[in-house]
Amino acid sequence: METKNCQNCKKEFIIDSNDLGFYEKIKVPSPTWCPECRIIRRNASKSVWTVYWRNCNKCDKKTLSMYHKDNPVSVYCTDCWWADDWDGTEYAMDYDSKRPFFEQLYELSRKVPWVAKETLGPSMINSEYCNGATWLRNCYLTFWADYCENVTPSSILFKFKDSSDCMRARESELCYESIGINKCYNTYFSEECEGCNNVWFSRNCYNCNDCVGCVNLRGVTNYIFNVKYGKEEYAEKLKELQLESWYGIQILKEKAKSFWLTKPYREYTGNSLNLNVTGEYVFESKNSKDLYLCTNVENSRYCQFITVPTTKDCYDYSGWGANVELIYEAHSTGEKASNVKFSFSGYPDTYDTEYSIWSTSAKNCFGCVSLKRKKYCILNKEYGKEEYEKLRVQIIEDMKNNPYIDKEGRVWSYGEFFPLRISMFGYNETDSMKFFPKKKKKP
Ligand SMILES: [Zn+2]
Ligand SMILES: [Zn+2]
Repeated sequence: METKNCQNCKKEFIIDSNDLGFYEKIKVPSPTWCPECRIIRRNASKSVWTVYWRNCNKCDKKTLSMYHKDNPVSVYCTDCWWADDWDGTEYAMDYDSKRPFFEQLYELSRKVPWVAKETLGPSMINSEYCNGATWLRNCYLTFWADYCENVTPSSILFKFKDSSDCMRARESELCYESIGINKCYNTYFSEECEGCNNVWFSRNCYNCNDCVGCVNLRGVTNYIFNVKYGKEEYAEKLKELQLESWYGIQILKEKAKSFWLTKPYREYTGNSLNLNVTGEYVFESKNSKDLYLCTNVENSRYCQFITVPTTKDCYDYSGWGANVELIYEAHSTGEKASNVKFSFSGYPDTYDTEYSIWSTSAKNCFGCVSLKRKKYCILNKEYGKEEYEKLRVQIIEDMKNNPYIDKEGRVWSYGEFFPLRISMFGYNETDSMKFFPKKKKKP
């Protein structure tokens, strides 16, 4: 066990023997920032929910974009970025051992074209106005979503179909205005429900059918405000409630809100079917600690927003899963990835890659940005296998001996995530702002 002071907030944090084992396994030095500062630093280069209109710098067509039109970097629409007529090696740079590596990576990052939206471009069908997404069909304004169909404004979804206005929904269909639903059908105006069918205005119910306004119930049928009715009686009552009218809905909404308050509010962590796990909103995971909003995670720590199975042996990983292992200090890396460190937005099939951004299907790449289907590249320049290995070792050594030091005096050596200036966003646009809001400093 080790106790350290965070380089950023100066507070003490502990690295335990399991953590040390993991760092040894993936051959990185132990972190110098505390877990919370690491989450903020990582997600300060991610922006799923803030989008703008701007024109593609290649075809000039109007596109939804994570980057504001005044952001001076070159931005390509989905079609132009994923097209085969360029691969990123056009922007290759020679490594200069006299200058800090991060300065050179920053330079490269401002030369290459960036893709307007965070999506697995070719997997999106008729879902142009969505971001943070893969494998969508006929979706509209759907953010942080994978494998969904016919969904309109909704967010944080996995296998969600024919639904609208929901958040945190998994493997559910025909739902509306609900939060935290898992394996539900026909579930409306409800929260934190699992395995429910034909349920209205209910909270924290599991495996319930045909219920209205219920709280904390398990495996029941035909309940209204936690009172049991016969099947026919229930049908009669349902007619009286006028659920098919706007008026009926408004009355019931108010009634349910006050009824929910009369019931003991169980501290709801959203956790379900876990083994040896700590965290919130964690499903079907095991042997993992400090997770937030995760599904099917194993032997991992400090991970967030993992919505697609499976994730194994990962630390400091912010989304989104889908057959990944050995990921460290990375975000938006998924769809088969292994041994990816200090990187973001590299998918699908990314292996043995470090300090890379938007390097899709990269294998053995180091410090690359907007690179496609390449191996043995450094700063987007291709090398032979041996030459690559040699130069990679040299850069890591140089990063230790000649680190980048930012204005605040923080040292960015090998083992740190990217310096904050690499981010293409203002803090107020990023996912970090959503979860760790900051007020504007007074001048
Ligand atoms: Zn800290
Ligand atoms: Zn274009």
